[in-house]
Amino acid sequence: MKALWFFIIGLFSLLIVTSAVPTEEKIYYDVVQKIIEFESENSDVMENASWLCDVFGPRSLKSPAYREAAEWCVERLKEYGLTNAHLEPYEFGNGWDIDYVSIHMVAPRYMPIIGFPVTWSSGTKGKVRAQVIYMNIEEITSNEKMEQYRGKLKDRIILISPEEKISPHLGVEMEGRDGEYFPNGFPVTLTEERLDEMSKIPLTPRISPLEEELKNQERRRNRRKQVGLSRQEIIDFIFSEGAVAIVHPDGEHYYGSVAPSGYARSGEKPWDENLPPKPTELVLAVEHYNRMIRILEKDIPVEMEIEVRTNFYRGDSHDFNVVAEIPGTDLAHEIVVVGGHLQSVSVGTGAIDNAAGVVTSMEAVRILKAIGVKPRRTIRVGFWGGHDGGGLAGNRGHVRKHFADPIKKEYKKDYHNVVAYFDQDTGPGRIRGVSIMGSEEMRAILTEWNKSLHNLGMAHLFTSGAYHEAYAEVGLPGFYFKHDRSEMDDWNAHTSMDVYERLFADGMQQTAIVVATYAYHAAMREEKLPRVSPLPWKDDLKEEEIQ
Ligand SMILES: [Zn+2]
Repeated sequence: MKALWFFIIGLFSLLIVTSAVPTEEKIYYDVVQKIIEFESENSDVMENASWLCDVFGPRSLKSPAYREAAEWCVERLKEYGLTNAHLEPYEFGNGWDIDYVSIHMVAPRYMPIIGFPVTWSSGTKGKVRAQVIYMNIEEITSNEKMEQYRGKLKDRIILISPEEKISPHLGVEMEGRDGEYFPNGFPVTLTEERLDEMSKIPLTPRISPLEEELKNQERRRNRRKQVGLSRQEIIDFIFSEGAVAIVHPDGEHYYGSVAPSGYARSGEKPWDENLPPKPTELVLAVEHYNRMIRILEKDIPVEMEIEVRTNFYRGDSHDFNVVAEIPGTDLAHEIVVVGGHLQSVSVGTGAIDNAAGVVTSMEAVRILKAIGVKPRRTIRVGFWGGHDGGGLAGNRGHVRKHFADPIKKEYKKDYHNVVAYFDQDTGPGRIRGVSIMGSEEMRAILTEWNKSLHNLGMAHLFTSGAYHEAYAEVGLPGFYFKHDRSEMDDWNAHTSMDVYERLFADGMQQTAIVVATYAYHAAMREEKLPRVSPLPWKDDLKEEEIQ
């Protein structure tokens, strides 16, 4: 009797176990082995990165450099044997890049200055030598205070912020992406302790990226309300008074590194074709900026000489993504997408952000072609335009054309067919983990996949972590991998020092291997990966309702 009872309990628990894991997750160790061997012996990642960074340089929005780099990617993907490699148009307004920059302090002493025009700035009218005025925006809290400057700004160059205090050592505190805290002033390698912490289930409610963004917007609105005059009102006043240029310090970087993006008016899409051109605004290396402020505070006149030329690319409402495929076999209509943004900011050469992501995604599909596997589902690779300073327009353009459009609330033909998107946009370090997006089912699957990658350092699954915005907003799984970020590598993203020297083969080869392994397993498994986010609108979506 007792024995039978135990047998029944045993059978029952067996049933529970089998229903929790319906089919065993198959791991293709033989394929992973081939992926690793091929990449160890034949990597193209550094050579391809040199083409993107050194030859094409910064791939600013719709610039000729972006277009040439995109065409080069198409040719490279064809060489690697991918199918249907082409430029795919998406809607996008103006483009912009830098043509020429020359900035100097010429009195009371000479100093060549590291600095760049803010994205979307117009150039100057030739070479301009002008007296410099310090107008501390933080102290202009009323119209009366602003009026004190009336009639004093014509033909002047305006330094608009106070001295930006920086640490003499690399010891400042800094908060990074995802609210991570970097105690040494720059991102650190993910330690075992940090990784363990990130794997724990938090006991606070998870909020969606959209909710988080709305909260941020609300916070920014409130901050603006507290000050009598908005930053933009002060800037408009300065230019209406006839100033030559407004000059900002780089508030985040130092050692001569400059990130000149930002300063868009709230709610404005700066690439909008109907917007008038913006006047000249410059961002200078903080050390050079501060020197001029300290001289001015001693009532010694400062003069600068500047000459800036920028290009606006107007009159064509499209930009292009690069898209190519490894066609699937029996499930070819289903699609696994990998990729990263090809467009970069206008300074540096877009190495970490994001030549690294492009060449590692390219390498992943190159490996799969080269080792001759035949994935069941189609693996699509995409390199996106209009990203940094462009509102992720390229990535969103692809999602909205093929999968779903959250603005029009329309589902598209391939909404049910897309399996997942694996994005590469977080630097050249090794991939250490990925988010399970709140799904324990996903954890069960990815735990198995990772078993083939443990010895390459890819072993962790996180309960926190970013979801890819373009996919998350239409209820599709878009994964960002979590990379090691060593020394100052990630700190350099978006700066004039984000160049080839920041890249290293070890991390990028490992990334290509992990992406190839993930893409292959997603393309081979019996079922599509589970949909981890709810439908963003209309819960009862039917196949026939799809556009
Ligand atoms: Zn990026």
